[in-house]
Amino acid sequence: MVDTLPEKPVCLYCKEDSAALPLIQLHYQDTVFWICPQHLPILIHKPALLTGMLPGAEYLQQAEHHD
Ligand SMILES: [Zn+2]
Repeated sequence: MVDTLPEKPVCLYCKEDSAALPLIQLHYQDTVFWICPQHLPILIHKPALLTGMLPGAEYLQQAEHHD
C-alpha cells in the first residue's frame, strides 16, 4: 500500500504556497482546500469563477451584497 503524502498547501486559485502568502484552510465536501486572502473574496462574491478549481463551485450561492 502506497501512502500518498498530502499535497503541499497552495491557494486553489493562484497556486501560491504558504511561503508567499498566508493560506486559509477550507473544508468542503470532506476535502481540504486552501485559499489566500487575496482570493478569498472570489469565493465569497464570485464563486462561479472557481469552477474547475473547486468541485461544485458553480452551485455555490454568492453572498448577497447590501449597500
Ligand atoms: Zn490566491
